[in-house]
Amino acid sequence: MGKHIKEKCGIFGVVGGGFEAARLIHPGLWALQHRGQESSGIASSDGKKVYVHKGMGLVAHVFSEENLRFLKGHMAIGHNRYSTSGASISKHAQPVVEKINGKGLLALVHNGNLPSAKKLEEFLKSRKISFSGLNDSEMMTKAIAYFISSGLSLEDAVKKAYPLFSGVFCLLIMDKSKVVALRDAFGIRPLCLGQLNRGYVVASESCALDIIGAKFVRDVRPGEMIVLDESGLKSIQLEKGQSKLDVFEFVYFARPDSYLLGKSVDEVRQNLGEQLAKENKIEADIVIPVPDSAIPAALGFSRASGIPFYPGLIKNRYIHRTFIMPEEHTRNVGVRLKLNPMKHILKGKRVAVVDDSIVRGTTSKELIKMIKSAGAKEVHLLISSPPVKYPDFYGIDTPRQVDLIASKKPVKEIEKEIGADSLHYLSYQGLLKAVGIPEDNLCTSCFTGIYPVDIGERARQIKKVG
Ligand code: AMP
Repeated sequence: MGKHIKEKCGIFGVVGGGFEAARLIHPGLWALQHRGQESSGIASSDGKKVYVHKGMGLVAHVFSEENLRFLKGHMAIGHNRYSTSGASISKHAQPVVEKINGKGLLALVHNGNLPSAKKLEEFLKSRKISFSGLNDSEMMTKAIAYFISSGLSLEDAVKKAYPLFSGVFCLLIMDKSKVVALRDAFGIRPLCLGQLNRGYVVASESCALDIIGAKFVRDVRPGEMIVLDESGLKSIQLEKGQSKLDVFEFVYFARPDSYLLGKSVDEVRQNLGEQLAKENKIEADIVIPVPDSAIPAALGFSRASGIPFYPGLIKNRYIHRTFIMPEEHTRNVGVRLKLNPMKHILKGKRVAVVDDSIVRGTTSKELIKMIKSAGAKEVHLLISSPPVKYPDFYGIDTPRQVDLIASKKPVKEIEKEIGADSLHYLSYQGLLKAVGIPEDNLCTSCFTGIYPVDIGERARQIKKVG
């Protein structure tokens, strides 16, 4: 693979405060594990030298005590990575590291995706810098490194490279003396700032601040660059930004204990469930969530419908997201491995199952089969978001449009294909109402096909569906 790898990731950075920074990044990355499970890495600095350790697998697998001892210093950045099939190789694990002559190492972590890397490619080509086999994050690092080696400071180099980055990015960039945090002008992926003692923390989600005892300060503004070093914080607005946070962060992706644009993700999900119940009157004996992501929505659904809530599916906590498995067959096995139905709860019942989304339809089909074979009399599937009809190019990896079941089939046909007695989605207006943030401040592309950040040549892959 190479240039156009889609990624959804978690990033975390710490500067100052009198801590061994890597010791805080490590638990921070555990808290962000849901944002990426393929590889993990940390780069740290003691002001003299940059140290790096990264590897394939979960945070728990990648870092030993010895590794953490090696990652010295008061500043560090870290990354959890998730990419699509084919690109899951250690070569692309982050932090991306680039050696700059006479100036030590430059390290970069990225959450997001550049749907078109044309500008970057043209720039690198014009400077005779090879980019073959590099992904977007690696090309961004090359561009910043170029400006540093031509004499600019880290922050000036980032400023200079910024116009070349057309797409979605939350970045942390570090040399031996500074960390720069940068968010694209639409703020499609989340990034927040926290404080711990006199030091600063930057994280994809606020839940990671809680874990290390840091205080939430604010979201990093769209188009803002924050420079952090031992002397403190400097904020520079590089471009006038307008928030277009991806609504899918609320629907599925973020952890429920995080806050995005001042809203509790858990509360929003409960609202989604309540709204779903208001829009769909179902005759059922029990409501069960597809754990973990749909638990708040199922609670909201139960509250608004008066149908009792039961945890009818038990999740194996030691299996992570099945979506990650690139082949259809392994994904099917994955669902069974991950979720087991409780027969004594389901037997003879009319069951309303609440899930947050249907992407390819694999999970729902397997689930319904499982719940029926556990003895349920009827299975009604309720989805706490509208049909996903358009692929994502901004870093959460919903697949090609042809693989999205709702882009090919109307609801009645999906219902038949997955074997549900009935299938109901939340309406788009209902989604907006439950989220409670103006439509103009959200990216809704996976539901509407409206892409706020230019997707360049990818636009040709999109077909408008009714
Ligand atoms: P599918 O089996 O392809 O229909 O996937 C739907 C299931 O995957 C739902 O249960 C969601 O909770 C979950 N899901 C939705 N979007 C994503 C995503 N971008 N990455 C991983 N899992 C997802």
